[in-house]
Amino acid sequence: MTTGSVHSWDVATAVDGPGTRFVLFLSGCPLRCLYCHNPDTWHMRDGHRMTVDEVMVEVAKYQRFIEVAGGGLTISGGEPLLQPDFTAEVLHRAKQLGLHTALDTSGFLGARASEELLTDTDLVLLDIKSWDPVIYRHVTGGEVAPTLEFARRLSALHKPMWIRFVLVPGHTDAEDNVAGIASFVSTLDAVERVEVLPFHKLGAPKYAALGIPFPLADVPSPDTDLVRRVRDQFAGCGVPVH
Ligand code: SF4
Repeated sequence: MTTGSVHSWDVATAVDGPGTRFVLFLSGCPLRCLYCHNPDTWHMRDGHRMTVDEVMVEVAKYQRFIEVAGGGLTISGGEPLLQPDFTAEVLHRAKQLGLHTALDTSGFLGARASEELLTDTDLVLLDIKSWDPVIYRHVTGGEVAPTLEFARRLSALHKPMWIRFVLVPGHTDAEDNVAGIASFVSTLDAVERVEVLPFHKLGAPKYAALGIPFPLADVPSPDTDLVRRVRDQFAGCGVPVH
């Protein structure tokens, strides 16, 4: 019986995919994004062990509601591909129930996603956190290449994608950095939208509760001019921006 380390779940509307969704947050992430608003999901050991059956019992409680609301199931984190077998099985079971499925990932561990896992995924919410490898490493602690490789693989499969980019003044907002992502995304197939997500500090209390400093405590949210400039950069490359 496959088990996974689960942080929590929630039923949410208008985030993490279309419609009203059962969002399963898994524990464990190999990255350490400066702006992460879920630092409580970083360690697998902090989650609670659940079997796939136990997860599906929770999903079943909301299934009717989700179906009526035109939603589905999203697996988020943390990083779901840190637990690829568990993630694959939950997605498969959700598809068996007839639910729309989404995978929310940084793509950093995209190589761990099996063909079967992707077959059972209707939509990938893919974070491209920067284009410039130096900025990417600064912002996440990891490498950008695996994410780009995963994006190309999804594109070859014509897998619907929502690309997400967190706009952080002074960190990810350089014109070249944005232009690189925009131009790359314009070469991908099946990108349904790009979401430019303005940096916010709503996760700051979680850092305080965990006793770790919030690295971007002094960084402001982007102003409307900056958000517009970045959105225009994406739109200028012909990708639909939300
Ligand atoms: S990939 Fe997501 S969960 Fe992991 S550190 Fe970055 S923002 Fe946080």
